[in-house]
Amino acid sequence: MSQPKYIFVTGGVVSSLGKGLTAASLGTLLENRGLKVSLMKFDPYLNVDPGTMNPFQHGEVYVLDDGAETDLDLGHYERFTDSKLARVNSVTSGQIYQAVLENERKGDYLGQTVQVIPHVTNEIKRRIKEVAKRQQTDVVICEIGGTTGDIEGLPVLEAIREMGHDLGPGGTLFIHVTLVPYIRVAGEIKTKPTQQSVAKLREIGITPQILVCRSEKPIEKSVRAKIALFCNVAEEAVIEEQDVKTSIYEVPLMLQREKMDELVCRWLHMKLPPARMGEWKRIVRRLEQPKHNVRIGVVGKYVGLQDAYKSVYEAICHGGIANDTGVEVVKVDAEDIERDGAAKHLRGMAGVLVPGGFGNRGIEGKIEAVRYARENKVPYLGLCLGMQIATIEFARNVCGLQGAHSTEFDSKSPHPVICLLEEQKHVKKMGATMRLGAQWCRLAAGTTSRKLYGNEIVSERHRHRYEFNNDYRDQIATAGLVLAGTTLDGELVEVVELKNHPFFAASQFHPEFKSKPHRAHPLFRGFVAAALKRK
Ligand code: GLN
Repeated sequence: MSQPKYIFVTGGVVSSLGKGLTAASLGTLLENRGLKVSLMKFDPYLNVDPGTMNPFQHGEVYVLDDGAETDLDLGHYERFTDSKLARVNSVTSGQIYQAVLENERKGDYLGQTVQVIPHVTNEIKRRIKEVAKRQQTDVVICEIGGTTGDIEGLPVLEAIREMGHDLGPGGTLFIHVTLVPYIRVAGEIKTKPTQQSVAKLREIGITPQILVCRSEKPIEKSVRAKIALFCNVAEEAVIEEQDVKTSIYEVPLMLQREKMDELVCRWLHMKLPPARMGEWKRIVRRLEQPKHNVRIGVVGKYVGLQDAYKSVYEAICHGGIANDTGVEVVKVDAEDIERDGAAKHLRGMAGVLVPGGFGNRGIEGKIEAVRYARENKVPYLGLCLGMQIATIEFARNVCGLQGAHSTEFDSKSPHPVICLLEEQKHVKKMGATMRLGAQWCRLAAGTTSRKLYGNEIVSERHRHRYEFNNDYRDQIATAGLVLAGTTLDGELVEVVELKNHPFFAASQFHPEFKSKPHRAHPLFRGFVAAALKRK
């Protein structure tokens, strides 16, 4: 296709409507119609990236191959499509202002008054177009974070409005995801919030052509007609997106039933064959009627929050799909284990997983969880911090190194089996200074990981500061912890495993970032298979 097309996805009424999922699902449909699609997110907040944000506020930080720390919606994009994401696909207002201010200091604006319009808006447009240019895609789906009406989002909306004007008919498409609430006491579905949210967009000069209406009840024909009339769209452009029953992987099929992709193609003047969704139908069928079921305990500190370990939960689900197994994830608070012991919370689990994390809280509970899994031969998968914890537990309870710890949690530990690398010791700034992004790892022959991957050299994503301390390598390995993976130069330990255990693997990297529903990550596939066997 000659000119790339741009689809903008905005959200109205409230946040958490699943804009990211909607954008990703549309990506799935367009890809399966044969298009090359790129997805990007524009977040209007002033952080340069979400890397410095607390998961309690913002959910998981998703890491890309190139080390960019991004919003968790980029995880959806990668799980739902084959779009190759990079730093340019995750833009924040913080980055925009930083760039504009740097340009101003360099004198690039030649004495002009530097203003939101046109300098900030031009920089926004440049970033959006850059994605299409660099990734050579037919279509860019650009999700705008936040909710219409937010003050900080105004420059972004102005910029995309201008793009609509610049590119003319067929060049851009505006999709607004909105809430159509059901008022229980009245037994009625309400359209007013949607009307007002669209009015807010029109005030800025954007008239959305498609409305995706999130609702817990079906939207009847008369309600659709009303929304269409008052929001100035065709009736067929009022797309119903009900809450999913089993899984988020139903959404692309749901949108296809609503003929959303057909509409999108028509608006963007693209003649394409229908989307081939056989693979997605198979995924959903397995999720709805799995042959087997298992329960897996995830021991963490942000367990109250669905979004804090998003990719971990998704990857477990993918491991389930690969094994035709429904996985019930039981979220266990590490602090509860500290109080009550591991057995009380982990008995009956077919597998135990300790995900990544930072900070002291709940650490001893996680160590107890690993001990329980090791001693009771319960399949264990450790991710990043979960690998460090496994090492500490083994050092303390098998090697007899009393007080073994990571210097992150005890700077005076007599046995710092996990410690900072020399290069990290001098780091003072918090943003983007960890060991980040894809790196190569060599897996040793005969290990579980090597068998599961089916490869000696693999690439996986990192996000951490601390490492396995090489001073303890020999002692720990001699005692029986298998150093199953290292960096190519052999310098850093990347994977540890236990022999004589049904499944015990833990990685310094984050395999969860590379799992897809139709291509489960090998470690998660193997973990769920082992859990199933134990059951
Ligand atoms: N806190 C640990 C470190 O910085 C682990 C980080 C993680 O689990 N992502 O090394």
